[in-house]
Amino acid sequence: MKRAVFPGSFDPITLGHVDIVERAMPLFDEIIIAIGTNAAKKYMWSLEERKAQIEKAFSGNSKIKVAVYEGLTAAFCKKMKAQFLLRGLRNPADFTYEQTIAQANQKVNGVESVFIISSPEYSFISSSIVRDIARNDGDFSSLVP
Ligand code: ADP
Repeated sequence: MKRAVFPGSFDPITLGHVDIVERAMPLFDEIIIAIGTNAAKKYMWSLEERKAQIEKAFSGNSKIKVAVYEGLTAAFCKKMKAQFLLRGLRNPADFTYEQTIAQANQKVNGVESVFIISSPEYSFISSSIVRDIARNDGDFSSLVP
């Protein structure tokens, strides 16, 4: 069973996230979309709202599971018996950020990271841009599922 964890804050889930999950689907038997929680971090959408948004986006897809975790992502992968970590790459900044984390996860926990390069039409989308628009009462409906 090839299982991947796709970790993130998903505050909120965007079309960029959905694109990565859909394109990764042929690679894995199961993908766990995992909402990482950090008590020190302030979120715009509550955990329940974020979980519901993700479940709605993938409803009817039996290969996709949604979970919540605290602490190290690699430890959560071990717990879920997931051999792979799925991440999306939009630009060189994402790569630079991800590189050392992926190397550490592989070395320390034996978890292999798999990266999918975002589709060009989604590479400008980030949850933080959506939050900026939402904070200023703008229409962000074209950026989210
Ligand atoms: P994190 O706080 O871990 O970066 P995010 O929810 O922002 O959590 O992102 C989760 C994953 O989705 C990351 O790998 C991120 O690079 C990827 N991602 C976010 N937006 C996009 C996008 N528009 N296209 C492709 N990948 C994306």
